[in-house]
Amino acid sequence: MTSLPKASPGTRLGLVIDLDICVGCHACAVNCKEWNTGGYHAPLTDERPYDADPIGVWFNRIHTYEVTSDVSGASDPADARVVHFPRSCLHCEDAPCVTVCPTGASYKRAADGIVLVEESRCIGCKLCSWACPYGAREYDGAEGVMKKCTLCIDRIYNEAFEEIDRVPACVSTCPATARHFGDLGDPDSEVSKLVAARGGVELMPEMKTEPVNRYLPPRPRRDGVAGGAAIGASSLEDAAPEGGFLGWLDKLLSD
Ligand code: SF4
Ligand code: SF4
Repeated sequence: MTSLPKASPGTRLGLVIDLDICVGCHACAVNCKEWNTGGYHAPLTDERPYDADPIGVWFNRIHTYEVTSDVSGASDPADARVVHFPRSCLHCEDAPCVTVCPTGASYKRAADGIVLVEESRCIGCKLCSWACPYGAREYDGAEGVMKKCTLCIDRIYNEAFEEIDRVPACVSTCPATARHFGDLGDPDSEVSKLVAARGGVELMPEMKTEPVNRYLPPRPRRDGVAGGAAIGASSLEDAAPEGGFLGWLDKLLSD
């Protein structure tokens, strides 16, 4: 089993993803795949992409849900709303994917909190993917090793890039600016201020993995007509069966 670095209040790099404005275009997922296929984890395979059982390595996947005011299905269809939910590694502080690893291949960096896999030490046992409650690990069947989001460590520290480009590929490409990158360990950083202002949440806090990444919940809609359809006043907080927005996320990650 592998140890985590001793807790320190230092830099904690991560993503803040705005579920209110993500339009589900998949640009972030595609640019992630494109960048990382030529980078640190290259290549990211795609096997039988058009067969019934495709296998591909995607560090970032976008899930799209229709949410109604009553998830039992008894709601007014006019209250339905589509939410796009990008999912990638959350770089947890108490990362079970690391502690379960029998070889030390999975590890968390003390300096910036990024969780990585040292592929040369990975034996492909998949214990980490069973341990991750968010389904964020990606097994590469072609290479027989586990892979995952690196927060594009080969971009964010790359001094050959202009400073504005030293962000993960997903952040650099999002046309809606739904993705933000920064130090969530610094309460004065722009991302921390954004989380505070918008009531950003961590996913499944009851798992006690202490993810670094945060999600900004969809904002309540105003009464009225939008996009040609009537949109009710109920927010996703009201729509979730229990536990508000977190309850809703819990349910969809558990299903
Ligand atoms: Fe590990 Fe999953 Fe947390 Fe990423 S999201 S650090 S893979 S437990
Ligand atoms: Fe959502 Fe931005 Fe990703 Fe498009 S690129 S799916 S808007 S987060």
